[in-house]
Amino acid sequence: MSKEYNYDHYKTVPEPADKVNYKKKKPKLIAVVDEDNCTGCQVCVPFCPVDCIEPVPTEKYGTPIPPVQVRHDECIGCQICAKACTKLTWDAIRMIKTEEFEETYDIELSG
Ligand code: SF4
Ligand code: SF4
Repeated sequence: MSKEYNYDHYKTVPEPADKVNYKKKKPKLIAVVDEDNCTGCQVCVPFCPVDCIEPVPTEKYGTPIPPVQVRHDECIGCQICAKACTKLTWDAIRMIKTEEFEETYDIELSG
């Protein structure tokens, strides 16, 4: 007898976005990776429409599989990476308000 599997869980996984490749204006939200929670699996990477998620340089971590980081100035705040990470892996990406991000990290984003 064949076993029936339930794949409903995957129905809410976002589709990889069409590539945009540039930022039009400063977004309302910015993706921030919780490096302590990120496994470095890179599942989120192909979901990003502007290709702004990359592994942290290994020199910084000294581990074979470093966590990823977002090049914040290129992020368009689409939230796809956060949804993909939550649904498929470790829920290691937070979307935070751009003003809060700029204040916390003392960075002014372009846009
Ligand atoms: S999917 Fe989540 S755990 Fe995997 S690399 Fe991306 S942020 Fe890290
Ligand atoms: S929210 Fe995530 S997927 Fe969207 S642009 Fe920013 S880093 Fe890329």
